[in-house]
Amino acid sequence: MDEIREIIFVILMGLFVAFGLAGSIVFLVSKNAAFKKKYFPWYVISIGVIFGLSIIVTGMDFVGLIVFLPAIALITFMNLRMTKFCDSCGKTIINRALFSKVNYCSNCGAKLND
Ligand SMILES: [Zn+2]
Repeated sequence: MDEIREIIFVILMGLFVAFGLAGSIVFLVSKNAAFKKKYFPWYVISIGVIFGLSIIVTGMDFVGLIVFLPAIALITFMNLRMTKFCDSCGKTIINRALFSKVNYCSNCGAKLND
């Protein structure tokens, strides 16, 4: 890796970590379901894009990219699908069971809407 790439990589990784931490805190702590519903997709997609860019900047070969980039897209998609926000109590609900849907809030029992 040449120096410019290294610098870009370090910046992207810094962004990734900072964004990841800040986002985890905001989305787990905040009780504002409307806010979280609005910004969560942007957050997850931004993280995916930052991660994808940081992989591209390492100069990974084409074969590596066609493995990694779809994997990142899939993880982003799963994150979006698996995370719900309760309208009643505002809790962030992460569905860890891959193929079943969570229909009720684990905190207050309210029905979850998409
Ligand atoms: Zn709830």
